[in-house]
Amino acid sequence: MSTVKKKKVKIKKKNFTIFLLCLTLIVFGITKGLIKLTTSPVEKDKEIKPVSKTKSDKEKKLDKLNNIQKKVEYFNFNYLDRYIAYKEKHKDLSDEQIIKNINMNLDKKHYENPTLTKNLNTETILVNKYYNLEKTYVPKNLEPISSTYALANMKLVNYAKEAFESLAQAAKKENLNIVAMSTYRSYDYQVDLYNRYVKEDGKNAADTYSGRPGHSEHQTGLAVDVFNNKETYTNFEKTKEFTWMQNHAHEYGFILRFPKDKVNETGYEYESWHYRYVGKKIAKYIKENNISFEEYYATKIKS
Ligand SMILES: [Zn+2]
Repeated sequence: MSTVKKKKVKIKKKNFTIFLLCLTLIVFGITKGLIKLTTSPVEKDKEIKPVSKTKSDKEKKLDKLNNIQKKVEYFNFNYLDRYIAYKEKHKDLSDEQIIKNINMNLDKKHYENPTLTKNLNTETILVNKYYNLEKTYVPKNLEPISSTYALANMKLVNYAKEAFESLAQAAKKENLNIVAMSTYRSYDYQVDLYNRYVKEDGKNAADTYSGRPGHSEHQTGLAVDVFNNKETYTNFEKTKEFTWMQNHAHEYGFILRFPKDKVNETGYEYESWHYRYVGKKIAKYIKENNISFEEYYATKIKS
């Protein structure tokens, strides 16, 4: 063979070796990739740390709830046992509804071991038959509402007061009178009021319409009872002012706090006259989704 030919063979051999090397690398790469793709995350975990074959109690409980914690962000692991117990009693309810109801404490009796409420001095403060305020709680920045829109000495927290005045002013432009007749009430005032109602109607009846001391939303300085200065407040539902409130209250950050179809959640009979300041954003959300403040709290506020 000539040296040229020898060289050519050598080059060919060299090329072939490189080709084989590349092929091996490619095959190796593809196989590894495939293994990676076909290995499920669970199996991957197995590689790292072996999972015990028996499920933990917690896992079994989560299975019973169809692992709803993966779907709803308001799932609270502290309530796991309560979720399970409630599900056993309410087999007709969806898992999501079970979580919501427990977050709203619907498995508890009213006033039974109440929790001191958080978010003090904010518009998301929740006060009801499960969450209460201390006797000494007085909201900051209480200010009297202009006498144009309120009976004498009616106070709300400053931002709620301003919102209420804007609301009443807007209604007035349409010749409608929305007048505040009960706003901030101190703990001591509520003691007197509640005791008077109990005397008149008995405890059971009083509890359907009046908050026990520490449990009245009026102590937050964010709640307002209104009337039109003609009809008595219990007839507010029949007035044009009520219709206006239905359409516009949320635009000013207020919600109808105890709606007809939410007695179970709020723990109160329907009150067409009681409004609560929650801010425009929350008020709009509550209105658009037709939910109670309790439902909002149970699904949107970390407690
Ligand atoms: Zn009220």
